[in-house]
Amino acid sequence: MAVSLVCVECGREHEPSGIWRCEGCSGMLEVRISEVEISREELDARLSYGNTHYSSGVWRYKELIHPLIEEKMIVSRHEGNTGLYTHSRVSEFSGIKELYMKHEGENPTGSFKDRGMTVGISEAVRLGSRYVGCASTGNTSSSLASYASVAGISSVVFVPSGKIALGKLSQTLAYGAKAIQINGNFDDAMRLVQEAAERLGIYLLNSINPWRIEGQKAMAFELIQQLGWESPDWICLPAGNLGNTSAVGKALSELVGLGLIEDMPRIAAVQADGASPFYNMWKNGYSEIRPVEPHTLATAISIGNPVSWKKAMKSIKDTNGVVERVTDQEILDAKAVIDSSGIGCEPASAASLAGAKRLRSANIIKEGESVACILTGSMLKDPEITLNYHMSRLDGIDARHMNAPIAVEADIDKIVEVFGKNAKELPLDKGEVTPLEIL
Ligand SMILES: *Cc1c(COP(=O)(O)O)cnc(C)c1O
Ligand SMILES: [Zn+2]
Repeated sequence: MAVSLVCVECGREHEPSGIWRCEGCSGMLEVRISEVEISREELDARLSYGNTHYSSGVWRYKELIHPLIEEKMIVSRHEGNTGLYTHSRVSEFSGIKELYMKHEGENPTGSFKDRGMTVGISEAVRLGSRYVGCASTGNTSSSLASYASVAGISSVVFVPSGKIALGKLSQTLAYGAKAIQINGNFDDAMRLVQEAAERLGIYLLNSINPWRIEGQKAMAFELIQQLGWESPDWICLPAGNLGNTSAVGKALSELVGLGLIEDMPRIAAVQADGASPFYNMWKNGYSEIRPVEPHTLATAISIGNPVSWKKAMKSIKDTNGVVERVTDQEILDAKAVIDSSGIGCEPASAASLAGAKRLRSANIIKEGESVACILTGSMLKDPEITLNYHMSRLDGIDARHMNAPIAVEADIDKIVEVFGKNAKELPLDKGEVTPLEIL
């Protein structure tokens, strides 16, 4: 088994050391693992391995992700093993009968970032790094902070001031990372952390780091394994810095190459209207990304200059995929439907469903095709948006699925009166139980 870091620009191969850019041309690197063999049966058998590293939904696929690493260096929080859901209300909303939601918000720190981070931090341990860092819209920093502390490594995160959701910032501080708030946006933070990493000898763990992408591949491996090794027709995912789009495409190509699946699913990468440079590039056939000033309420995908655009474009081409964009209104409508179905997700995650709905309406997703939407983060990450939505306090957003609290005096007669007057307006479905019967 051979493992190398290959430059995606010039093809130069490097030994797996602590670099994240090509030593020849500064291009981005990707991990190449050759001569692997693994069967569906072996991977299925590992589902019953109990409390070993194979019980992690990332390290179960170790040969396909980081075969070099010794078990004692693995820093795992039993990430992955996230739920796959269907719900009639979500199907109805999207017009897609066979629609799955893979809930990556069920990872230990509440987002899919843990899949890449367990591999990134384990690699930092293998390399003997003392300090790790990243720029983040919040979820990468939460994940980095947690895994670094578990490993006993110091961490620093660069975050855009005022543009990070409350749940993410509080988590990052609590897990013990040093947080540098940049007076700028994510793209500024990304540029500065790369310079800081080089000057200060910090091991950079943004998704520019090829090991992060390796870990994130496990999301696709696990999804397909949960579907009994049957490919869905489509995988829809929100697209910001494009690490995830890159990882899912790489994973799918590898699964086909290894003979673990027969049919290649199509990727649909979904951006927010106000932060859609990748959509522009794909739609207009630009040869390079043209950065934009990002504006969207979905902070996790509020990125105007995505680092992984080249790898992500390869994912779209290799899977005969598409790129879509949706408005904040569409994102929050989709989120409200996912939330009220009892599943819940953070705003950026709902871009996947909003995109699937749009693609179905345009008949790009055809009648009868199956779709897996990736819900990238937990509902609890961004309580402010959720609350402001249900209080109808978001500028320019029509809170169509609003469910505001009702203030009532502490008096049972008053409470009964409120129910009597408002029973029809209460946000309950046609079900058998009426509000008064509940009382
Ligand atoms: C990071 C993140 C994204 C975007 O993923 P990229 O790999 O940057 O495209 C989407 N949703 C959530 C919740 C995230 O944390
Ligand atoms: Zn190169």
